[in-house]
Amino acid sequence: MSIKENLQIIQSKLPNNVTLVAVSKTKPVEDLMEAYNAGQRVFGENKIQEMVTKYEEMPKDIQWHMIGHVQRNKVKYMAEFVSLIHGVDSLKLLKEINKQAKKHERVIDCLLQIKIAQEDSKFGMQSNDANDLLKSEDFKELQNICIKGVMGMATFTDDKKQIESEFKYLKSCYDELQSIIANNCNLEIISMGMSGDYPLAIDCGSNMIRVGSSIFGARNY
Ligand SMILES: *Cc1c(COP(=O)(O)O)cnc(C)c1O
Repeated sequence: MSIKENLQIIQSKLPNNVTLVAVSKTKPVEDLMEAYNAGQRVFGENKIQEMVTKYEEMPKDIQWHMIGHVQRNKVKYMAEFVSLIHGVDSLKLLKEINKQAKKHERVIDCLLQIKIAQEDSKFGMQSNDANDLLKSEDFKELQNICIKGVMGMATFTDDKKQIESEFKYLKSCYDELQSIIANNCNLEIISMGMSGDYPLAIDCGSNMIRVGSSIFGARNY
C-alpha cells in the first residue's frame, strides 16, 4: 500500500484529540513529500542533523518533532525551527535548550521523557525526579522553554499486559505532574504509542502517537 493509503487508514481510526507524528527517520525526502502531499504536517526524526537537512529541503509549514535522544552540543542546530522536543530528561539539557531558544527569541516546547520500560537501554527520568525538576527554582528561570507534557517508550516485547501497565504508569505520572503550577509548564500532551502498540496507547490515555513503519514501511538501517 502507498504512504498516502497507510496514512488515511491510520487517520481514519484516530480519535480527534490524538495527534499523529509521522516518524520519518532514515526515509528519503520523496517519501516524506508523499506524506506531506497527503496532508501530513507533523514529522518526527531522531537525529538532529538528518532533521535539519530535511527541514531545509521541505516546505516550511511542517512541524518538526525531535523524538530521539538529544545531545546537548547539537541543540543549537535545531533551535531555530524545532516545534517539539520529546526526549528531554535532565535539567542540564533543558538549560541548553533554553539558552539556544533565547538566541532565536522563541520559546521551545518540550516533553519530559519518563522511564517506563524495564529495559536498561531506554533513556528517561524517574517520575519523582521529573517532579523535583518542575518544582525547582532553577526550572522557574527558564523562560524560553515550555514543558507541554510527557513522553515514554514501552518495553520492546510482545507481552501486551506489560506494555499496557507501562502506558498506564505514564498516564498516572502525567496526572500527578498536573498539580505543578509554573508559567513555563502547561501539561497537555502524553506522547506514547508506536506502530505496534498505538491503539493500546490511546486506550491508556495517549494523545500523541509516533508512528513510523506503519506509514513508511520497514526501515533498513
Ligand atoms: C522510531 C521511533 C518510533 C516509531 O517506531 P515505529 O515502530 O516504526 O512506528 C517512535 N518513537 C521513537 C522514539 C522512535 O525512535
